[in-house]
Amino acid sequence: MSNPDATSVNDWKVERLEGEYFRFRVGSKSRPGRTHFVDLEEDKWSGRCDCERFVFVVGVERRAGKKAECRHIRVAREACKDWLWSDVAPMIAKQMNQKNTIQ
Ligand SMILES: [Zn+2]
Repeated sequence: MSNPDATSVNDWKVERLEGEYFRFRVGSKSRPGRTHFVDLEEDKWSGRCDCERFVFVVGVERRAGKKAECRHIRVAREACKDWLWSDVAPMIAKQMNQKNTIQ
């Protein structure tokens, strides 16, 4: 059974900004043709978005100390996943292995 809250990156129009690793344009579902700007690095890597939900709900919940995000942030994070595992994780592992051999 599929989770109605699940966000599949395939259902969304998402593009990484040229020359940026963690900044995206994610298509709006409620307003076709519009896109939202997502910066995953903001808010200590919790991400920021310029959609209404972020401004009126997510931001308020975060200021109250809750963990919250909009679907555009989830989609952008999902869009990074393959690259993080294929390119970034090996770099981290290599660095940690080098640190361990220096001791
Ligand atoms: Zn959003």
